[in-house]
Amino acid sequence: MPGFEVFGNEERKEVNDVLESGVLMRYGFDGMRNGHWKAKEFETAFAQRMGSQYCQLVSSGTSALTVALAAAGIGAGDEVIMPTFTFVASFESIMMLGAVPVLVDIDDTLTLDPKAVEAAITSKTRCVMPVHMCGSMANLKALKGICDKHDLILLEDACQAIGGTFEGKPLGSYGDLGCFSFDFVKTITCGEGGGIITNTKAYAINADQYQDHGHDHVGNDRGAETHPHLGYNFRISELNAAVGIAQLRKLDDILALQKKNYTVLRNALTEVEGVSFRTVPEGGVENYSFLNFFLPTEALAQQAHKALSEAGVDGCFYWYQNNWHYINGWEHLRKLKGLGNLPKEIQEQLQDFSKTDFSQSNHWMGRTISCLVKLGWSEEATNERAQKMQEVIQELLEKTPV
Ligand SMILES: *Cc1c(COP(=O)(O)O)cnc(C)c1O
Repeated sequence: MPGFEVFGNEERKEVNDVLESGVLMRYGFDGMRNGHWKAKEFETAFAQRMGSQYCQLVSSGTSALTVALAAAGIGAGDEVIMPTFTFVASFESIMMLGAVPVLVDIDDTLTLDPKAVEAAITSKTRCVMPVHMCGSMANLKALKGICDKHDLILLEDACQAIGGTFEGKPLGSYGDLGCFSFDFVKTITCGEGGGIITNTKAYAINADQYQDHGHDHVGNDRGAETHPHLGYNFRISELNAAVGIAQLRKLDDILALQKKNYTVLRNALTEVEGVSFRTVPEGGVENYSFLNFFLPTEALAQQAHKALSEAGVDGCFYWYQNNWHYINGWEHLRKLKGLGNLPKEIQEQLQDFSKTDFSQSNHWMGRTISCLVKLGWSEEATNERAQKMQEVIQELLEKTPV
């Protein structure tokens, strides 16, 4: 996944363009900036690459989600359906607006189960937020059908799956809005940054204004701009955007390399009886940033994870017992531990997590191992890694009858 592996002179050159003028802000100072508008340039290139009409850059993937929700008019008390397996940013961005996250089960795609989504819809539901975790996607066709039927917004969190596609469309562009992160460990990075794509002009205008204190960005005098709505500051800096321009040009090479390395690992594990792979919905193409597979039982997955690490195979994650990515680790959410008082809508409407039943999610997450695919592995190192993974898991499964 990490674009930082390919950071080089191309990124330095883009950043130097900004350093030479010293205009570190994306707006204004027209005469001083030597014609460089890095954030705008990135937005144009990114919208084009993602097959979308509009792109809005912001300061992080988390702020992209917040701005996207705000742009779609989601606010206090509105319910947003999200998966139990995701990054904490999902509920953070929803709760930032006083909206209420509604957590539902995942299925063997490791993303939202459409049946669980449909069962969770209430009169307050406004949005469904699938999270394309670890390089692959939710069943977007089924989710879009549900959203159309119930008049809900489909917001894709594509932060971990940039470059993947569904029915030929780039992930993030299938729903009403799509969000991306360019933090330091993502497939392409700005250091810190995020992006929103959409084909809906009203959302694009709202996002543009909301991320910059509600400024309408009409004319070229910031002091004279009006504020049609309240906003906030989620702006990206020119320096960060500059890094992203160079990274975006490398995206297709990164994806090709990920696919190559992923395929070597996958072919090796295909040989192991008892290992199965995460389901990719029909019409979907992964971005190959992770290889995700299932062991026959939770106990075996834990043993395999340990054995892989002991054999020196780094970069394999057992999310089921990880504090960032699965509901089991989110005590601060389950107990609503805010620093101050939280909005009353959240306090009143949030699920009672002592009563929720996520056994279906546990069934899949308990058995899942995800291995990060790196760019810097040589062919030899990739083959060696694949062989080691095969041996370690094979040995474990042979000595443990299921
Ligand atoms: C990284 C990530 C985010 C948040 O991005 P930041 O830029 O780190 O704020 C949101 N969702 C998912 C799935 C992510 O992986």
